[in-house]
Order: sequence, then C-alpha cells, then structure tokens
Amino acid sequence: MEEMKEFEKNLIALDNENILNTYKRFNVVLKEGHGATLKDYTGKEYIDFSSGIGTNSFGACDKEWVDAVTKQASTLQHSSNLYYTAPQVLVAKMLCDKTNMKKVFFGNSGAEANECAIKAARKYSYDKYGAGRSEIITLQNSFHGRTIATLSATGQDVFHQWFFPFVGDFKYCPASDIDALKGLISEKTCAIMIETVQGEGGVVALDPAFIKYIDEVCKEKDILFIVDEVQTGNGRTGYLYSYMEYGVTPNIVTTAKGLAGGLPFAAILFDEKTENVLTYGQHGTTFGGNPVCAAAALSILSRINDKLLKHVKECRKIIEDRLSDIKEVKSISGKGLMVGIELEDGLKAVDIAAKCMENGLIPLTAKTKIRLLPPLNITFEELNKGLDILIQVLKEA
Ligand SMILES: *Cc1c(COP(=O)(O)O)cnc(C)c1O
Repeated sequence: MEEMKEFEKNLIALDNENILNTYKRFNVVLKEGHGATLKDYTGKEYIDFSSGIGTNSFGACDKEWVDAVTKQASTLQHSSNLYYTAPQVLVAKMLCDKTNMKKVFFGNSGAEANECAIKAARKYSYDKYGAGRSEIITLQNSFHGRTIATLSATGQDVFHQWFFPFVGDFKYCPASDIDALKGLISEKTCAIMIETVQGEGGVVALDPAFIKYIDEVCKEKDILFIVDEVQTGNGRTGYLYSYMEYGVTPNIVTTAKGLAGGLPFAAILFDEKTENVLTYGQHGTTFGGNPVCAAAALSILSRINDKLLKHVKECRKIIEDRLSDIKEVKSISGKGLMVGIELEDGLKAVDIAAKCMENGLIPLTAKTKIRLLPPLNITFEELNKGLDILIQVLKEA
C-alpha cells in the first residue's frame, strides 16, 4: 500500500516533468476499472460519474465492447481509407438507419467532426450562392472544440485569446433568445450550429421553442442547421441523439465522445441536402473510420435501444429525487445522464469535486457547477453509492 502510494507519487512527478502542463489534473492515478467502479494503484475504489468525460458509454471494460475491440484488433487494426473495411461500412449503415440521415463521414474527435461540418456548410453555400455567404451563427457560452476554427466557433471570450488570427465569420447569439437570433440572421448566414444542452458551458439545456425556431428558420431561408451532439449524443440525454426529442431535422449532426465507448471516433451525419457537398479530394483523414474504433462503435450503437434509454431516464429521476431536497443544491440542470448541479453560494465546484475524489467518487465540473456524466448502464447500486458520497460531501461542505 505504502509502496503503491510512492509509485503514484513518482508517476505524478514524471507526468509533470514530461507532459505539457495544459491540464490541471486531480490528485488521482487511475489504474483499472469495471463498469462504473474504478481503482487506483493502492486498490482504492471510486464510483465513476465521469465516464472519461462522457466517452465510456458502457463504463470501464464492458465485456461485449472488449470482445468487439479485441476481435477487430487481432484481425486487422487499420487499413487507411484507400480501401473498404467492413466495420466502417456497418457502423455507417447503422447510423443512417437509426437517424434517417443519408451519409456519414468518420473522424477521430469532436473538434474534427465540427471542422468537417463547418467546411461542409461553407461549401454548400459557396456551391449554391457563390462567395460571401459564409457566416455561421453559434451560441454564446457554447463549446465546439480546440482547433482554430472550432475555437472560433466557440462562443466564449476566454477561448478567443493568444492564437490570433481566429477564423472569421462566426457570430454568437445568446442561448434561447429568438429575437436576438432574428437580428443576427442575414443574407450572409450559411449555418446555425448549436448544442441542445451546452455541456462545457455549464450543462445548460436550450429552450425547446428556440430549437424549433432554428429548425423552421433554417428551412425557410436555406440555412444549414448543424447540431453538435459530441457530448449530448449516443444516448446521453435519454435519446439516441438529443435533437430527436424535439421533432426537428438538422442537416448536419456531429458526434464523438461516447460513440465508440472510450476509443477516439467521430461521425458527421449528412441529410439529403448535404450528402453530396463534400466530394472526392475535398476532405479526408488517415485514422477516421479506423476498424477497431468502428467495431467499438458498432458494439455501443447496437445496444443504445429503448431499454437503455429508459434506464438513462430512470437514473435521472433517482438523481433528481435524491438531490432536490439537499440544501447545498440550488438547482439541477441538463437532460438524462448529463447532469449539472448548481451549488449554493460560497460552495466551489472544484473543491467539492476534489473532496468527492478523496471519498471515492469521481464527478466532473462545468463552469461553476458539478457535472455528472455516469456510464449509461450504471447500476442503480453504483448510482446510489455515488450519490451517497456526493450528498455526504455536500452536507459537510
Ligand atoms: C468535447 C466537445 C467537443 C470537442 O471534442 P474533442 O473530442 O475534445 O475534440 C466539441 N463539442 C462539444 C459539444 C463537446 O462537448
């Protein structure tokens, strides 16, 4: 035990020495896991309410997922996009069948998926209307990624520093403000891009009327409606893709995080209007659609069914029921297993999160809130055990 504590300490020192200091890591070294229970090297257990930031959709080392991944890894791990591979085709077909979208492009990350959507939106407009109709409206407080273009799309000033010049022609609308949006739309607008629940921005769900208005105005003015489902997608909100709750039909949907259950994989879905916008030579990637990641995604997507989505909604109800009368909790936001917890004044989310980790629970934070993204198939037992720890920490804060 003492030996392992020493091992962890050395590891942390080596990390600080050799890895770029861009992350403010918590004082936890994770070694292994099963489901929603993780362990460090000393054997200490943690209930995982983070899923690796919404990626490990079925928790750690889910048996079916491991089998799918290891089978593909020991068959053919990669082949490039110069050739056809079965897992990629099968997962594309499954995505199209489940969403009624027409075509898919595969990438490796959320930022890349949004880059692809931005390129496609601009090209759609260029092909049809010529140069100059290139403005994309995103929302204040949004988050779309860390590349230069997706930072530019991100509607938060803190991300618009140092790396000048950013990509032009992005406009930022206050979330859920229909009048403000009306004021921003012009003949130069080519797309509107939203997250239905702003994840990094503090787990803020948009007003359904706003989402419906975007769908309508986009159709009326031939503006492309892009939904960034990088965090909200793949069952997270209790729907396969969160837009499905609102009866809207976006032209482009991007997703990543939970899609392949913890491997880097992204999909960009195109409808009938946009399926032929990017053609031969206009976009590409070496790793996108990688067979191991595609096999992982097949394993995950095939199990995001009504039963699982019902489980997600039941878990949400348990979380709301148990937290609603805790006096340190001001409000609970988000949808499904994408949960934001606003704390009473004076309580700091990072401090609460650190205290939770000391006590065997791994939550996340988003802005000033505690954010929970547990595995979608977390057992009620693990969920309640995690909530016990969180409630205890809140009461002692
Ligand atoms: C995490 C996230 C991204 C960026 O995804 P990466 O895989 O980190 O590039 C983009 N959009 C949203 C909504 C996200 O939550």
